Amino acid sequence: MEITETHCTSILTRATGYLKNVSSHSLNPYIGCGYGNSSCGEGCYVRFNQWLNRGREWGRFVDVKVNADEVYLNTVQAERRWAARRGMAFSIFFSSSTDPWQPIEQKFRVTRKVLDAMLEETPDVLILQTHSSRIADDMDRIISLSLKCNLRVHLSIEGDRDSLPGLPPPPCSVDERIRLVNEFTSRGITTVVCMSPLYPLIDPDVFFQRIAESGASAVVIDHFIEGDGTRDGSRTRRTRLPQAITTVDEQAVELSYREKVAEIARDYLPVGISSSGFAGVYSLQVDSVSEGGGRYEP
Ligand code: SF4
Repeated sequence: MEITETHCTSILTRATGYLKNVSSHSLNPYIGCGYGNSSCGEGCYVRFNQWLNRGREWGRFVDVKVNADEVYLNTVQAERRWAARRGMAFSIFFSSSTDPWQPIEQKFRVTRKVLDAMLEETPDVLILQTHSSRIADDMDRIISLSLKCNLRVHLSIEGDRDSLPGLPPPPCSVDERIRLVNEFTSRGITTVVCMSPLYPLIDPDVFFQRIAESGASAVVIDHFIEGDGTRDGSRTRRTRLPQAITTVDEQAVELSYREKVAEIARDYLPVGISSSGFAGVYSLQVDSVSEGGGRYEP
């Protein structure tokens, strides 16, 4: 793993693409991801982003934005005004192209310092997206922020299996992540489970029952088709993920599988679909849409 300390000149990125409907800004404390060689890294939507990766192999590098907190504080007022001029809440998706609680965070604490900066200059909406149970290291800060803004934690749990045939293990087990949902919700933090990208399920009823019992506010279901930024999932088809999914359940590589799973999930808790789900729009039944956690989200 190649670790490089960098000094960034900007840290709040104005949202484009699918994020436009989710938040006004994204914030990425790192470039690259230390989980890139785990199961989620295989189908990671950032893997083929050459603008970010600059020819480097996904999972083999992390650039650490060591001054992210200072740059946040220096630029937050201008970005807040930019969002206000557009009639938007100042809402931050943290993070869209890296994991804020990847292993290197224990050494550099860039994410922690940005959370401290946010306690000084708090956004209107804050979405914390992670695969990692290490987010619990910052529980106290997250609770403090949740008292000052509309905050929700998005925990990625692709399904009820830790991995798929031929793929490496995940950053942490499904059981561990469900325990984490419970830990956050019992502390009063709005927590959403994100199945992104959706894996074939062993027993959807048992899984969604567990998610509902963990106290999650909703589940977001995102298939690699449409979810990876291409209409047909062609970006993900360049990886081993579709083959691994097919080995378990060949129906699960079709977009119709997302709808089938969503229908079952709605018996247990509110469901969001792909980007509108990340934006906090959920429904229990197809004809009753509600907004949860605010107007914006990943
Ligand atoms: S944790 Fe997120 S950013 Fe990192 S490899 Fe997995 S999916 Fe990609």
